[in-house]
Amino acid sequence: MELRFLGGASEVGSLGLVVRDQGRTLLFDYGLTPTDPPTYPRPAPTNVDLAFLSHAHLDHSGMTPVLSRLPHAKLVATPVTIAVADLLTKDALKIARLEGYLSPYASSDIHALHGRFVAVDRHATFRHRGIEVELTPAGHIPGATMQLYRGEKDVLFTGDLQTIPTHLVGGAEPLECDILVMESTYAGREHPDRRETERRFRDKVAETVERGGKAIVPAFAVGRAQEVLMTLAHSGFSIYLDGMARTVDEIYLAAPEYLADARRFRHALEGVNVVEHAGQRKKALHDADVIVTTGGMLDGGPVLFYIGELYRDPKSSILLTGFQVDGSNGRQLLDDGTLTVDESTIRPACEVLKFDFSAHAGHSDLVKLARASRAKTVVLMHGDHREALRDALEPTCDVVLPENGRAFVL
Ligand SMILES: [Zn+2]
Repeated sequence: MELRFLGGASEVGSLGLVVRDQGRTLLFDYGLTPTDPPTYPRPAPTNVDLAFLSHAHLDHSGMTPVLSRLPHAKLVATPVTIAVADLLTKDALKIARLEGYLSPYASSDIHALHGRFVAVDRHATFRHRGIEVELTPAGHIPGATMQLYRGEKDVLFTGDLQTIPTHLVGGAEPLECDILVMESTYAGREHPDRRETERRFRDKVAETVERGGKAIVPAFAVGRAQEVLMTLAHSGFSIYLDGMARTVDEIYLAAPEYLADARRFRHALEGVNVVEHAGQRKKALHDADVIVTTGGMLDGGPVLFYIGELYRDPKSSILLTGFQVDGSNGRQLLDDGTLTVDESTIRPACEVLKFDFSAHAGHSDLVKLARASRAKTVVLMHGDHREALRDALEPTCDVVLPENGRAFVL
């Protein structure tokens, strides 16, 4: 069995893994890195028989439209992943047009991909021409799955995973396999206690409101915004939601079986005022205690409007809820207290804090999952400091740290 990463082996982004086994060519995820400008993985082989998409985030799904140009590749994913990936790839293309980047695909490719999708439930086994792949929930976000390929050896590809239950989804359970291909985003790092983080977050919103300010909560549209809204549910604040998260909410509401508690999710959304169009933003600004909005790294989206209006107000706060990649506005704000908006630099007077609402398993939980899988070989991917995990796992199994583009045989 030969494995080769097209991207995403040693970095968080542009993931793609090609597996060749018994004359078949399989592709697991095919994403881009949504930086400014975006970066892309290596080209996919033209003879891909089947592709699997673990979940909708662009670093896993962003290149899938090009698969529609391959002669016969089908793309297997859960219905929720298919719907959200369609939304995100369309948005990525729109941003490319606005920013003047050359996109690797056109809207006709996104459309053509609809004919290649095969929707499979998150607990189902997919069989096609002798190929057997079992899907199982990965935690992380609704619709996310791990894929267990039953070939010459059993290979479990995790995509992104979270083992602790969150408001939105339950945690991933380990599966036994021969080869475990595992994400390593949080190798060497642990998360603070989740409930404690949520308490501190609600307390900070309350403190902001009590002193007469407003809390701006930048959040990724897929997963994070919904998790934050559920954390704020029934807190008595006037909550506004703006950006693409609104459409994602609708996709989740239409697939209640993919949520840990659909009734509670629906209930949480009932208390939220939705900003339907830009004309309602002034009203939101006036009425809201807390505004949950995209983009999560402050590089675009309605969040820049709200910050533009409130940044001089020392009573207000900007409460970051997601990972801030190097080079992003959010990272710049955390590191030196400034933001670049329309080519000018501003220094918000608001209080700025970051809360760890991560949807990825921390180091110890990754180690636990790997040990429980009883894999003889663990391939670490999707991480920029994988050595810490290798050191923890090596006493009990072989660990491979692959490099992008270099094939290896297992
Ligand atoms: Zn993800």
